[in-house]
Amino acid sequence: MASKFFAVADRKSCVSCGACFRECPRDAIRIDHGCYAVMDPALCIGCGKCRRICPADCIGMEERKA
Ligand code: SF4
Ligand code: SF4
Repeated sequence: MASKFFAVADRKSCVSCGACFRECPRDAIRIDHGCYAVMDPALCIGCGKCRRICPADCIGMEERKA
């Protein structure tokens, strides 16, 4: 079952390393325009793996509204 949280990256702090992209078990992350990570809330299960591996500490979790 999906978590009530989903991951969001701060695009200003993202250094485009791709670590989150490689770590995500749901293929929910893409590197937009080659410069910052974007998570798809519809695919994200809120596992937090991307957040733990991010070297820039720029991924947070947001609560789903509904
Ligand atoms: S929280 Fe998990 S499922 Fe969601 S984007 Fe990060 S690694 Fe992928
Ligand atoms: S792990 Fe962090 S710094 Fe690296 S691409 Fe993902 S959000 Fe950006």
